[in-house]
Order: sequence, then structure tokens, then C-alpha cells
Amino acid sequence: KIRVRFAPSPTGGLHLGGVRTALFNYLFARKNNGTFILRVEDTDQTRFVDGAEAYINACLSWCGIEPDESPLRGGPHAPYRQSERKVTYRAFAEQLVDEGFAYYAFDTPEELDARRKETPNFQYGQATRLSLRNSLVMTPHEVSQLLQEGVPHVIRIKVPEDENVYFNDLIRGDVNFDTSIVDDKVLLKADGMPTYHLAVVVDDKAMEISHVFRGEEWLPSAPVHILLWKYLGWEASMPKWAHLPLILKPDGNGKLSKRDGDRLGFPVYAMNWIDPKTGTLTEGFRERGFLPDAFVNMLALLGWNDGTDRELFSLDELVEAFDPERISKAGAKFDFEKAKWFNHEWIKNLDSAALATLVRPVLADSGIMAEDEAYLQQVIDLVKERCTLLADFSSQAAYFFRQPADYDLAAVKGKWSPEKSAFFESFAAGFAAGNDAAAVEAGFKQLAESSGFKPGELMLPLRVMLVGGKFGPGVFDIALLLGTEEVQKRISKALS
Ligand code: GLU
Repeated sequence: KIRVRFAPSPTGGLHLGGVRTALFNYLFARKNNGTFILRVEDTDQTRFVDGAEAYINACLSWCGIEPDESPLRGGPHAPYRQSERKVTYRAFAEQLVDEGFAYYAFDTPEELDARRKETPNFQYGQATRLSLRNSLVMTPHEVSQLLQEGVPHVIRIKVPEDENVYFNDLIRGDVNFDTSIVDDKVLLKADGMPTYHLAVVVDDKAMEISHVFRGEEWLPSAPVHILLWKYLGWEASMPKWAHLPLILKPDGNGKLSKRDGDRLGFPVYAMNWIDPKTGTLTEGFRERGFLPDAFVNMLALLGWNDGTDRELFSLDELVEAFDPERISKAGAKFDFEKAKWFNHEWIKNLDSAALATLVRPVLADSGIMAEDEAYLQQVIDLVKERCTLLADFSSQAAYFFRQPADYDLAAVKGKWSPEKSAFFESFAAGFAAGNDAAAVEAGFKQLAESSGFKPGELMLPLRVMLVGGKFGPGVFDIALLLGTEEVQKRISKALS
């Protein structure tokens, strides 16, 4: 039975790397008729941020990757929020102490700070643990006395000396860790809360997780987790590991961070995120004008491909094509131009009814209420080739809904003459939109020639009169869609 989880900590906005982790878990679950679980890892009270969990839910919904089991939906292994599972963890930590795999440590934060100052790169572990204040160097009597007195303490894993922790990673193949470099991580904190390391193992076991897809930044923690699976006696049900490649800065130099986005002017969050403490807004892909399908498609291709050079996939097609064997080990460079390319492709390919739903609010933002659905869809069909981001629809489509307020007068009246005015007056008077742009064009050209003009010198003025500037699709297509009356109004306004 395939069961996978996305296990974010609610500490702020969701970076695109986080969404990609969720996506790969989702794809793997769907591909194998498995279950996709959202588990909120909120055991670190100091990093907890109000609103972050709601934001994560909203991001997953926007992307269309809804979990089957989650704090909101519940499920057979509820609760799905670690803070609500607090009671389950201590017993496991104590069991590890009783069996000699973990120990109590009574060092105060001040004592540890002093040690860190003394010894650069200080690690609490095999080289130092016997010179610190913990149950490894105390008599059982001393230990139980301290515990009885309620002296603050943590429980730490006792990492074995000179052992090799081996595992097979679906993406990275054989991975080995020499335990001499692994420190004795805290498992249970002084406040009674588990750390991530203990909670993740206990919950992956409780929730019968079969595969863990998570970011490469968790690779160094894997040996600790594997030791815990073993020490808790659960080795036989340990999930398979898959550490996803990093998403790199555009120049390939290191991990992509929020600051890179700020510096280079692109979003790295899925949706707008407002930090509740500072009120600062971090822009998201959604608000920048990305379609969820395009965002998801782009993310899937960061570190994965189907073995061909195909790049465009819907979510269903991704499910169909997804194969974790094809996730690359190498980091994937993020390229915002490429991300925009995906969006442009998706805008071009989406049908106008679906696009209309997305474009309507964009237009509303610029004060345009597109009431006529059929007209809106025709407008969208005509201009979508020119739109890379949803926001582009407001500049590319506005003139279909209101007369241009300003004209680029130089372009209309540059080398103007009374004859040109007369031409446009008679063109407008005889104009009837009909339904054939080619016929409108032919009529225009004929009239131009019979009035002694080259049609070319009149087409740009016509465009500016209708559009307000020198942009947009074919001018006769525009005229047709605007309709007879509107074309006449605009020409006469421009000439006045
Ligand atoms: N809570 C961890 C995070 O915030 C999850 C890591 C894991 O998937 O094991 O990313």
C-alpha cells in the first residue's frame, strides 16, 4: 500500500521547492493508487507562525493537489498536527533511554553556550558526551533524583561510534554515512515536545508511510532517522527514501532563496504571503499571473522529465508519466524566463471559457466589468497569444471594453492631411463589421486606393484610433470584434 506524506513546518510562506515536494508526493501517490497525506510538523513552537497552515492548505488547493488525509480532512491516523500528538512521543523517547539508545542530558543552555564558545564547531556527540552533564556519566540514582526534582532536561540519541549507516535512496542510489560525523541530536526537548527527528519517525511509522520524498536538505538527517527506525524496532517497516534535488539559483550557484527572488524580481512563493509579524508582503506566482497548471507543470520539470523532450503536461498527464526513477540527482536551475514560457504556453492552450474565469478578476482589477461572456471569450481568443502573464490581459484587452482615453496622436496625425480625415470619415460611414475580417480589409484597401493612398499608410492610424496605441492583433480582427457602432464612434472621436 503506497502512502506518502508532505510534512511542512508552518513557519511561513511556501517556497516553490516545498510545493514541488508536495507535488512529487502527490504524483507518486496518484500514479500508484496510493494515499497522499498532509502532516503539519509544528513541534517547534519558537518557529510557529500564525496563518502558515491555512496558507499551505490554500496553496495545495490552488495547485490542485489536495491531500486525502490532513488536519482539515481528518483520516484514520488523526490528528495530523504534531502538536496534537504530543502525548505519543515521550514514551518512545523513554523507551530508547531504557534500552540504551538514548540518554538524558541536563546541560543548561548557558553551559552549552559556554562550550560552544570554547570549542569552535562544537558537537554534542561521541567525542564530547562524556565530558557533559548527562545520564551517561551519572549514577542511576543521581539521574532519577534530578528527574524527580523536575530539573529541565532533554533526551538525546546516542549515536554509535564508527558505524556505517547505509541506505538505498530511490534517487541517489547507495548512500553511506559514517556515524563519527553525526551528532547526538535532541529527540525530546525540555518543554516535553519532540524534535522533528523523533516526531518524523514516530509519525511516519504510525501513519504507515511507505515512501518519503523530501528535499535534499534533509539528507544529512537521514542517518539519525534510520538509526531511530532501527532502535525503535521498526526496521522492517521503514519507508523507502527519495531525496529530491535542490532547486538552484538561476546561475546555478547555490540553493534558490527568497532573497534571490527579491533581488532578481521574481516570486519564489506559490502565493502572496504576508508575514503576520512584520506585515511584509512576499509576492507569489499566483498573484504574478501564473496559471496553476503552468506553475505545476514548470515545477514538475525542475529535476524530472519523462525521458523525452516533452515539456508540456497537465496534472493528469504528469500522474500518468511520473516515474521517480527519472528524478535527477543534480540540482535544477530555476529560470524565470522558462517559467514564463510555461505560462504563455498554458495561456495559449487553455480554452477560452476556462481562461475567462481567470481573466475576469484581472480585468475587474483595472475597473473593467466584462459582462458579456461570449464577447469576453472572443476577446480572449484574439489576444491570448500576446499574454504571458494573466495581468497582461488588462493591457491587451482593455480597449475592447472602453474607448482609449489617450491616443498616440503623433502616430495618428503625424503627417496628417484633410484628405486623410476625409478618408476616415467615409470609411467610418460605410463601415459595417459583418463577420469577415478579410472583407473588411479588402474594403478598406479598395477605398484607400481609390482615394489615392497606399493602404499601408492608413493602417497604423486606424489601429491607433481603435486601440489607442501601436499594439494588438490584426487591426481588421479588432474592428470586427468592436462592431460597427464602436468603430464609428472611435474614428469620429479620434478625428475630432
Ligand atoms: N518538517 C520538515 C520540513 O519542514 C519535513 C521534512 C521531511 O519531510 O522529513 O520540511
